[in-house]
Amino acid sequence: AALLMAGKKGIVMGVANNRSIAWGIVQHLHAHGAEIAFTYQGEALKKRVGPLAGEVGSDFLIECDVTDMDSVDRVFETVKERWGKIDFVVHAIAYSDKDELKGRYIDTTRENFQRTMDISVFSFTAVCQRAAPMMNPGGSLLTLSYYGAEKVVPHYNVMGVAKAALEASVRYLAEDIGKDGLRVNAMSAGPMKTLAASGIGDFRYILKWNELNSPLRRNVTLDDVGGAGLYLLSPLAGGVTGEVHYVDCGYNNVGMKAVDAPDI
Ligand code: NAD
Repeated sequence: AALLMAGKKGIVMGVANNRSIAWGIVQHLHAHGAEIAFTYQGEALKKRVGPLAGEVGSDFLIECDVTDMDSVDRVFETVKERWGKIDFVVHAIAYSDKDELKGRYIDTTRENFQRTMDISVFSFTAVCQRAAPMMNPGGSLLTLSYYGAEKVVPHYNVMGVAKAALEASVRYLAEDIGKDGLRVNAMSAGPMKTLAASGIGDFRYILKWNELNSPLRRNVTLDDVGGAGLYLLSPLAGGVTGEVHYVDCGYNNVGMKAVDAPDI
C-alpha cells in the first residue's frame, strides 16, 4: 500500500503518555512514513514522551509550555534549523483548573477563564502564526475539539466555551492561510480516558452514556482518532479545510437516549 506521509515532516504537540489522543495520531502518521518532532510540557513529561518518540524512530524532542511565547518561538526556531520546512502540525493541548470542570459554568472565575482560553484556544493561533510561514504547500494543521463546544455537557463548563472559540478560530485560520495552500481543521473526538479527561467531573458516567447511546454503541479508540488524524493531515483530505470533523461513533447525530440503553 502507498505511504501517505512518505517524506513528510511535522510537529506533534500534546503527547503526555500512551493514552494521549496525540499518540494515537502519531502511530498512524509513523506507519505512513512521517518524520515527527515532539513537544513536551516540562521535564516530568519528557520521561514519558522520550521513550514514545523512540518507538516511532524520533529523537527530536523540544520543551514547550504554551503559556510562554518564548518557548513557543523556540519550538519553531529549533525545527526550522533542523528541517527548514514542515508539512503538518498536531495541536492536542487543553487545560482548565479541575475545580471548575465540575459543578456550574456560572461559577467560573476570571482567572481560570483567561487561563483556559489562553492554553486551549490562543495557543493554536500562536502555533499557526509561527508554523504557516515554514510550511510546504499542501501542509495541514490539526487541533482537537469536543461536542461540549456546541451543546451543554455536564461539567465541561468553561472548556466548552473554550472549544467553541477554538472551532471558530479554526474557520478564521483556514481562511487566512488557505491562499498559501495550507489547511486547518479540528477533530471533534468522542470522550476518551486520558490524563486531561480525568480532571472532568463524573467522566466515567459521560463515557458510559456515550457508549450506550452512540449509533456504534461503543466509545472511540486511539486507533479511531489516529486514522482520522492521518486522513486530515494527509493528501487524502486535500480539499478539506475549516472543518470540525466528528470522530465520536456518531454520537453528535443522536437526539434522544437509545431505547435499548439501560439506566446508568
Ligand atoms: P492528554 O492529557 O493526553 O493531553 C493533553 C496535553 O495538553 C498534555 O500533553 C499536556 O502536557 C498538554 N498541555 C496542557 N497544558 C499545556 C501547556 N500550558 N503547554 C503545553 N502543553 C500543555 O489528554 P487528551 O485527552 O489526549 O487531550 C488532547 C486534546 O484532545 C485536548 O485538546 C483535549 O481537550 C482534546 N479532547 C479530548 C477528549 C477526551 O475525552 N479525552 C475528547 C475530545 C477532545
